[in-house]
Amino acid sequence: MSRSTVWHPFTQHAIAPLPVPIVAAEGAYLTAAGGRRIYDGISSWWVVTHGHRHPRIIDAMKRQADHLDQVIFAGFTHAPAEETAEKLVHLTARSFGNTELAHVFYSDSGSTAVEVGLKMALGYWRNVGEPRTRIIALEHAYHGDTIGTMSAGARGIFNAPYEPLLFDVARLPFPQSGREDETFTALEDLLRQTPTAAIILEPLVLGAGGMLIYSPAVLRRLSEIGRSHGALLIADEVMTGFGRTGTIFACEQACITPDILCVAKGLTGGSVPLAATLSTRAIFDAHYSTDRTKTFFHSSSYTANPIACAAASANLDIWLNEPVVERIAALAELQLTRLAALVNDDRFTNCRQIGTITAVDLTVNDAGYLADVGPRLYQHAITNDVLLRPLGNTLYVMPPYCTTAADLDRVYAVMQNAVQAVTSRM
Ligand SMILES: *Cc1c(COP(=O)(O)O)cnc(C)c1O
Repeated sequence: MSRSTVWHPFTQHAIAPLPVPIVAAEGAYLTAAGGRRIYDGISSWWVVTHGHRHPRIIDAMKRQADHLDQVIFAGFTHAPAEETAEKLVHLTARSFGNTELAHVFYSDSGSTAVEVGLKMALGYWRNVGEPRTRIIALEHAYHGDTIGTMSAGARGIFNAPYEPLLFDVARLPFPQSGREDETFTALEDLLRQTPTAAIILEPLVLGAGGMLIYSPAVLRRLSEIGRSHGALLIADEVMTGFGRTGTIFACEQACITPDILCVAKGLTGGSVPLAATLSTRAIFDAHYSTDRTKTFFHSSSYTANPIACAAASANLDIWLNEPVVERIAALAELQLTRLAALVNDDRFTNCRQIGTITAVDLTVNDAGYLADVGPRLYQHAITNDVLLRPLGNTLYVMPPYCTTAADLDRVYAVMQNAVQAVTSRM
């Protein structure tokens, strides 16, 4: 095979095996060239919700493609964008029990949704005449791979080369179970020191940071402390949104409404890229003025692409009209029973679950993202037609919602065999 010219994401080409060519996907499965079927245990990097190629989402895109492919979104609008925004506002109103999130700004990835959120927060404070610029973020956070979102995210091997150019944010210790007070105290102290523009959080679970879970009560307390000092709350629900944690949005479980809500991955059901940043009326109103300098100066070329919006609109219909939350509860139950089988196995520690996600840490000497164990587990699983992509020594399952009991039985069997194979050679 001749060398490909393609440069892949998060891939060290000097040592990575050749990528697997995929020709089709359906439900929870990918089909490789040659017909091999691979179970998609990480929902294709956390984006696929109901399953690959959901018929209603695919049909909506086909119909839209026959009418309007793309149009500039400044000075123009179109039905798929208007409908999607209305449905998003409706869905969040239903989830949060209020209509505070009243405006929808489109972009095209999780990173841009978060960048937009940060810019909205800073724009808000400037436009109300109280220019606050401090951002507070959690230790181990991940908010994307652009400079702004890397700045908000944890520092490490991923961003070492860019570190000198990243802007400073104040960092909160992760609210470890039993030591949450340290996080609350640190937040109080930071807020007292400097007027803060916004606190940015991944609600209930830090994904790329290692599937680190904290409770709704902690989220609620962090939100209350922030609010008492006037700081805005940016909820990065790029991963948690659309059912991952058992509710449509993770913030629901803490009975809080953020000032800014970022969604992306599951917005189109995982079919095509689209992101949205929802804001309160107050933030929109701070930008609403006859003074042009108060404009929200942000755009992507493909803002609100009509085909992507048609996919999102069809996806939102599924959430609004079908018992998806009940379906997810059944999947969470299937996950729970299988995870229980690992709890007393001392090769696994920190067995944890939130909604549809399960995660375990492997007992290894060499932990952390670059741990050698990760690529070996990956390789063992994929050889057995299961896609799992450990975060260092953390192995997790984030299944598409159409996953069956039999699918999961296979996944957990492969996990146990993989761990057996990998640890016996250490
Ligand atoms: C994946 C992710 C992002 C970045 O989304 P992209 O679409 O990959 O840019 C941001 N925040 C969280 C919490 C994520 O999981």
